[in-house]
Amino acid sequence: MSPRLILDFSFDEVVQELRELGQPNYRARQVWEWIWRHLAQDFFAMTNLPLPLREELGQRFLISTLEVLVRECDEEGTEKVLFALPDGASVEAVLIREEGRRTVCISTQVGCPVGCTFCATGQMGFVRNLSAGEIAAQVLHFARALRDVGEHVTHVVVMGMGEPFLNYEDTLKALLNLNDPRGFNLGARRITVSTIGVVPAMLRFAQEGRQFNLAVSLHAPDDRLRKKLVPLADRWPIKQIISAVDAYILATGRRVTFEYVLLGGVNDQLRHARALASLLRGRLVHVNLIPFNPAPGLPFQPPDAGQVELFRQELLAHGIDVTVRRSRGVKIQAGCGQLRSRVFQARNALPGLEVCEKNHSQDKQGFP
Ligand code: SF4
Repeated sequence: MSPRLILDFSFDEVVQELRELGQPNYRARQVWEWIWRHLAQDFFAMTNLPLPLREELGQRFLISTLEVLVRECDEEGTEKVLFALPDGASVEAVLIREEGRRTVCISTQVGCPVGCTFCATGQMGFVRNLSAGEIAAQVLHFARALRDVGEHVTHVVVMGMGEPFLNYEDTLKALLNLNDPRGFNLGARRITVSTIGVVPAMLRFAQEGRQFNLAVSLHAPDDRLRKKLVPLADRWPIKQIISAVDAYILATGRRVTFEYVLLGGVNDQLRHARALASLLRGRLVHVNLIPFNPAPGLPFQPPDAGQVELFRQELLAHGIDVTVRRSRGVKIQAGCGQLRSRVFQARNALPGLEVCEKNHSQDKQGFP
């Protein structure tokens, strides 16, 4: 049997695996801590385990299967990595450095079946789901890099390639493992899952009894326009999505974020802002406006800066809490799927590993 990815296992499953090797439960806890707390990359580093057990584990399991294919940084420290998987697939993850925060944005699928017309990933089509371990390994990669400069991952956002709620089981398992206090111990309130509004999964997520944050990528205030921008979302009308958001707020008490990509001349007019406000008024929600990040091959323009401000003001005037996301990583094309598209378009000229020269740990003041 070929070695399995140990990050694919829950704590209870690791206990079971170790039992089958005749090991007591405390050995499973030691292994778990080495992997999720000490971020070990090699079973031989697990020095409180007997050597024969380390050898046995090394034959049966892998700790990660991700390989860095390309790594790019910008001057603000936003760092994007394209990971290669053993089957030849590749996915992106991004580390965003902001004062007091180190946020990792991760992927849950190779490609994406949703097909958003403004998204580079959406144009690739769908290849496959990532396993729980492949999802969590993206976070652990950046956690190791940050540890080397005395920092740690403070937040995780599931907003990379793919629709997480179309890979529900593995996404949830990865998040529960990251949240587990025996290991990585990242608080549920520091983890955000973004969906295009897969209503059955949203209702299920509400019942998980966790405090994860939910974000809904709406991008249009009416079904007709939304269908053009988010084709698969046609299955779940906006009315149903809002009801599912209400259920999430009721079950968790958490504020829900609505993501809205502003596309110049398409969905950025005042009438769109008014329609959006009337959908959301009176709810425990927040709107995150995202001015479109231009990318080759995508038939949209960024919105005019003045129009973004008018849109924001209109929402505020209707009592809707709103922020505008700062454009980060434009130079390295940090928008979802853009690095992968660029690399594969230039496949013959693949630059190999690009190292970020700058030490971005200078802004540690105020770091938690
Ligand atoms: S924006 Fe998200 S949901 Fe839409 S195609 Fe891209 S990855 Fe998929």
